[in-house]
Amino acid sequence: MTMLTKSPRVLALANQKGGVGKTTTAINLGTALAAIGENVLIVDLDPQGNASTGLGIDRRSRKRSTYDVLVGEAGLGDVVVETAVPRLWVAPSTLDLLGVELEIAASSNRAFRLREAIARYAASTEALPQFSYVLVDCPPSLNLLTINAMSASHSVLVPLQCEFFALEGLSQLLSTVEQVKTSLNPELTIHGIVLTMFDARNNLSGQVVADVRQHMGETVYETVIPRNVRVSEAPSYGKPALLYDLKCTGSQAYLRLASEIIQRERRLRAEAA
Ligand code: ADP
Ligand code: MG
Repeated sequence: MTMLTKSPRVLALANQKGGVGKTTTAINLGTALAAIGENVLIVDLDPQGNASTGLGIDRRSRKRSTYDVLVGEAGLGDVVVETAVPRLWVAPSTLDLLGVELEIAASSNRAFRLREAIARYAASTEALPQFSYVLVDCPPSLNLLTINAMSASHSVLVPLQCEFFALEGLSQLLSTVEQVKTSLNPELTIHGIVLTMFDARNNLSGQVVADVRQHMGETVYETVIPRNVRVSEAPSYGKPALLYDLKCTGSQAYLRLASEIIQRERRLRAEAA
């Protein structure tokens, strides 16, 4: 077990639209980062728990979850479980998360529950796995769960589906990021936008890519994730696409995205130094 002394880079995968590839990106980007040697934790903050299921964590075996962490009944170390991927862990979610908002609404640190849990974990002297990356899979809403993710994160990674209304809703997401930055987490940045489910046989996909690049410029990663049936099949086997079929176009794209993200991280660190 590698013990790192520095705290992890925390990235929130957020978009209030459902079905755009947040969870698929959390699972496969996490796996790709682990494959190139990073220690990665995926925090499942969606009550649907698709990231947990897609990583092979059986619902019945989830005795403790991110719900317990947010309500303060468990530490992150109590809920983190191994996956079939070396160097990849997950903090699973359960449907209990649906009620968390009401339960913590009255407390003054309600937006910082995850941030505090990650800090406590990193500072712990117990022999726990230490992560270089934490990827937070957000629910499809700009609710208190997503706000917890953003206030715990260094930056936000936005999956955007290559579809006609791709840019719709993006300004709302970006203004939420600005609000969190102003009121909760001055460090927060946009890490990048990843275009997902690109279909080369569909002219519209190409137009969407051009359009989003024109509007958002360098914020958009060079890597575009293709629509790939292997990627959509993998979760039903409880496996990331990279374990299910490493050679498929989707897996290969997620490996490229991982190296692009690491390059961007290096640049950000160099700029900050
Ligand atoms: P979100 O977490 O934003 O709701 P998901 O990651 O669950 O989105 O993706 C929505 C659906 O699209 C899922 O059924 C998933 O398997 C499928 N999907 C996501 N990315 C791809 C892809 N690159 N190729 C094919 N299907 C994909
Ligand atoms: Mg999801």
